Amino acid sequence: MGFIKKLFQPKKCAMCGKKPTNPTYYYNDDDEKVPVCDKCVTYAERRAYRKV
Ligand SMILES: [Zn+2]
Repeated sequence: MGFIKKLFQPKKCAMCGKKPTNPTYYYNDDDEKVPVCDKCVTYAERRAYRKV
């Protein structure tokens, strides 16, 4: 059941896997739009994720 939700709208932070309260969206290595929570934004930047 969970995989369907994942396909349409991943709601968990791509970094820590927790529910992001105020997510920033990035494209990951697979060109997928993923939410990143406030705490992990710097980490996402370091991994060269592109901002949406
Ligand atoms: Zn996070």
